[in-house]
Amino acid sequence: MIYLDNNATTEIHPEVKKEMIRCIDQEYGNPSSKYYSLAISAKNILDKARENVAKLFGCDSQEIIFTSGSTESNNFLIKGLADTQREKKHIITSSIEHPSVLNVLRYLETKGFKVTYLPVSKEGIVDPKLLEKSISDETFLVTIMWVNNEIGSINDICKISEICYKKKIFFHVDATQAVGKIDVKLPIGVTSATFSAHKIYGPKGVGALILRKDKDGLSQKITPLLHGGEQEFGYRAGTQSVHNIAGLSKACEIVMRDFEKNILALREKELMLVNILNNKLGDQIVYNSPDNKVPGVINFQIKGIKNVIFLKKISPYIAASAGSACSITHPSETLAAIGLTDHEIHQSIRFSLSPYDDISELENIL
Ligand code: PMP
Repeated sequence: MIYLDNNATTEIHPEVKKEMIRCIDQEYGNPSSKYYSLAISAKNILDKARENVAKLFGCDSQEIIFTSGSTESNNFLIKGLADTQREKKHIITSSIEHPSVLNVLRYLETKGFKVTYLPVSKEGIVDPKLLEKSISDETFLVTIMWVNNEIGSINDICKISEICYKKKIFFHVDATQAVGKIDVKLPIGVTSATFSAHKIYGPKGVGALILRKDKDGLSQKITPLLHGGEQEFGYRAGTQSVHNIAGLSKACEIVMRDFEKNILALREKELMLVNILNNKLGDQIVYNSPDNKVPGVINFQIKGIKNVIFLKKISPYIAASAGSACSITHPSETLAAIGLTDHEIHQSIRFSLSPYDDISELENIL
C-alpha cells in the first residue's frame, strides 16, 4: 500500500513513537501536582514541549497553549475572542478556510456577527489589498490560513500581518498545513496561530494554539472553551495529555532538525509523481494546484473519470483522497472558490506525499 494522504494525517515517526511509549510507561504523573518527582518530571516534559513549539514558531514558550488539535484551537480562538467583543462585530476570512474556521464563523453569524468571506485567486491566494479594503471600524478579527490543505497554495502572511499590525486588528493564522513545509516563524503582526501534531508525524488528538502576548507583555483576553482548572495559563482546563504532548514535542524537534532534507525529499518525490502521472495519463491530466505551493501536495483532475471511481479502483494499492477528510459529504469549497465547476470538482483528486515513503512502485500500479 502506498500512502498518499499525508495532508489528512501522517504516520507516527519512529522517534516520536519511542518517546511516547516511554512516557506511557514511566511518566504517569500529573503535571499540576507538586513536590514529588513523578509530577515534576511530567511538568518538565510540558515545559520542554513549550520550548520546542516556541522555537519552531519563533515566539515565547509562555505563549504556547496545548489543545486537542487545530479544530479545537480554531474554535477556542474565534469563539473566545468573539465572546469578549462588546461593540465590534465584524470578522474577515477567506472562502477556502478549513471547516473548523468556516463553520465556526457561520455559527457566529447566527449570533449577530458579520463575516466577510474574501474570494481567492485561481491560485488559491487572498489578495492583501482586497483584505485591507474590507477592514472597517467594526473589524476585530482577521483569520486566514497559511497553506491550503487541498491545493497547497501559500498566502502572503507577512503582508497580511503588516496590514493587521498597522490597523491594530487581531490576526489569527491556521498554520496546520504549513509546518514542515515552509518556515513558520511568525511575523510580528500575527497574534495567534494553530497546528496539529498528526500532520507532522506526531500523534492525533494534540496540537497547540500559539497566543502571543500584547505589546505590553500582557495576556490576551479570550474566553476559554473549556472552563475548569488553571492548566494552560487558565485558557484550557483539563489535565494535559503528557504522552501526546511529548509526541508533539518530538515531532517539532524532527521538523526543525530535518527541515531541509525533508523539503528536498518532498520535491524529488513530487517530481517523480508528476512524471509518472504525465507518462501514464498524458492529456487526461489537468493540475488544479498552483505553481507556487508547498512541496508534496498535488491536486489534479483526470478528465472523463469520476474521482470516487478512480479512488475506489486504486484503493487496494494506493491510499489517497478527493480532498479534505473533514468535509467528505460536500463538494470541495476550495476547488469551487478557485473556479472549478461541479463536474471538474468530481474529477479532482489529491495526492499528498511524505518525505519518508518510497513511491517507486507507483509506476507499476497506476
Ligand atoms: N486546519 C487545516 C488547514 C487542516 O488541514 C486541518 C486538518 N484537516 C485542521 C485545521 C483540523 O485539524 P484537526 O483535525 O487536527 O483538528
